[in-house]
Amino acid sequence: MDDVTVFCADQRSVTALVQTCEDFGRALGAKVNCRKSEAMLFGEWHLASSAHFPFTVKPDFIQILGVWFGKEGAALKSWQDRLGKINSKIGLWSSRKLSIEGKALVLRSEVLPVLQYTAQAWPAHTTVCKAITQTVFCFIWGKMGRLKRTVIYKEPRKGGKGIPDIPTLLRASFACVSVQRTLVEKTGSAGRSMSHLFLMPLWRQLGWDKWDSSIPYNGNAPWFYGDVVRFVREHQLEGLKPDLWKPKTIYKLIRAKDLTELVPGLPAATAETVWTNVASKRLTNGHKDLSWMAIKGGLYLRSFMHARNLCTTRYCPRCPYVEETSLHVFWQCPFAQGLLDALEHELRDSVPRSCLSYHSVLYGLFPGTHDMEAIQEAWRLVNCFKDAVWLARNRLVINRENMSVRDSRRFIKSLLRDYSILDSLAVDEEEEE
Ligand SMILES: [Zn+2]
Repeated sequence: MDDVTVFCADQRSVTALVQTCEDFGRALGAKVNCRKSEAMLFGEWHLASSAHFPFTVKPDFIQILGVWFGKEGAALKSWQDRLGKINSKIGLWSSRKLSIEGKALVLRSEVLPVLQYTAQAWPAHTTVCKAITQTVFCFIWGKMGRLKRTVIYKEPRKGGKGIPDIPTLLRASFACVSVQRTLVEKTGSAGRSMSHLFLMPLWRQLGWDKWDSSIPYNGNAPWFYGDVVRFVREHQLEGLKPDLWKPKTIYKLIRAKDLTELVPGLPAATAETVWTNVASKRLTNGHKDLSWMAIKGGLYLRSFMHARNLCTTRYCPRCPYVEETSLHVFWQCPFAQGLLDALEHELRDSVPRSCLSYHSVLYGLFPGTHDMEAIQEAWRLVNCFKDAVWLARNRLVINRENMSVRDSRRFIKSLLRDYSILDSLAVDEEEEE
């Protein structure tokens, strides 16, 4: 008998429990270690009869399957344990140089599972949600946040980065467990009766009419059920069919309401095309990040740093009195134009140099009629170009080192070689399948 929890209503039940354990032990030759077994007393139970109580009595908290229960504060105690665990997990991953997409994967596969289980027993408090959010954003950006927080939760095709909004997912988990218990579980099950007892008055407030007046209810619901109602209202989930109450489904519904991020200077209808280009599967995660950051204004450019009082100048290191923005660095700056000229040969097979505009370089939009393959090739090349420009810029600003157009072109060629290796690996994989 490992990890068994028994609820006893009176001393007679306790005696019967001990007796059952002893009978069981005699039959099997395995004994229940009463000293290691813990008990907790609730309600009007008095400790006076502890002589008949062979277990270690815990005065405030008891841990069942890794979750704390007992006095007020048990939920917070459970969450603090979990927060400690995710901090050490994230600490391990932070030392690696990961793309934002890579970090999203770590959050989904390593961090979320640590929390989701607890979220089914206790909803995450506001303070817990704040702490999680802070940990997540610190993991993604480092100490200094770069962009509005809600943006990165959006799907890539809407201009986000698909980072899981963990607090929302956790609240959805608890809400789903509660709803499932009341609406889906069989009549008479313990879970259903409990949810019914506290949640029915709240369900009625929400206009849900699955109301069985033969079951008793209690209008003073504990705080954790209050959060379910807040969650339902906040995300307008009233009237959602019971079988749709699954955390992933709910999360999808919430994300579906996200608006597509606008691209400054472009019509709204074009934005989704731009974001789809930026998140193209044919780009490496590093190139996706660079393209995305260049548009969202999250790169550590002097204009960005100056606005935050982190840099004394806002001008391009190569062009006096010209503000260093994404548009300048990747298009207007003579260094960028010179490098594009030098790439004429590489561009010839896809989209000619003369057809390129800053829309091509920043957004992957190519004017004129070019076939799909040519556009995809050009978009890759342009991304290697941005990578090279960014490297040259950082060498100049950080290391005071001048990288020539020739060096940059050589760097671009090595990136293109890497892409063709990736392509041949992808072909091999397809053939194996
Ligand atoms: Zn410049």
